[in-house]
Amino acid sequence: MTSEATSSRRIPVAISACLLGQPVRYDGGNKLQSQLIGKLHKRFVLIPICPEVAIGLGVPRPPIQLVLDRSAIRARSVQEPSVDVTALLESYGRDIATTRTDLCGYVLKARSPSCGTGSVPLFDINARITGNINGVYINAVLALQNELPVADEEQLRVRHGLEEFVEKVIAYSMQLKET
Ligand code: SF4
Repeated sequence: MTSEATSSRRIPVAISACLLGQPVRYDGGNKLQSQLIGKLHKRFVLIPICPEVAIGLGVPRPPIQLVLDRSAIRARSVQEPSVDVTALLESYGRDIATTRTDLCGYVLKARSPSCGTGSVPLFDINARITGNINGVYINAVLALQNELPVADEEQLRVRHGLEEFVEKVIAYSMQLKET
């Protein structure tokens, strides 16, 4: 084991709690990524966060989606569009960004309307997909911590994806130490 790998072991990296196997998804399930978690555990301290549970949505809960409504991106219940949790998710994202300034990276669930990074379908009010964007929670985190290395589980599965993410996290941790 290299000294770099040893020294990186205590670096805190946030992770969508469902990827760690916690049963926090809207349907009560999880999205455990055993192999990936095993590799990440060797290098980092993983901090599980589920923003939807944190803002008080229960498990199970009605699923949400991102909708473009009059130029505003809203996180709304799929079944009940009057239920809008955008402000709560954004506020929690700002809380994490300002209180967890020790985080050196974030592993996110692809396509989640809260956690997804660049992969989340954005619907228009006629339920047509108009593009793919960040989830509203992680978007609020990154608005305040725009250099935080992030990747979703699919990006970490591609060739060299994990190695490149690990390098970015270690470089970012060194940067934080110097400030
Ligand atoms: Fe997983 Fe994020 Fe959805 Fe929670 S909000 S279940 S952590 S993807």
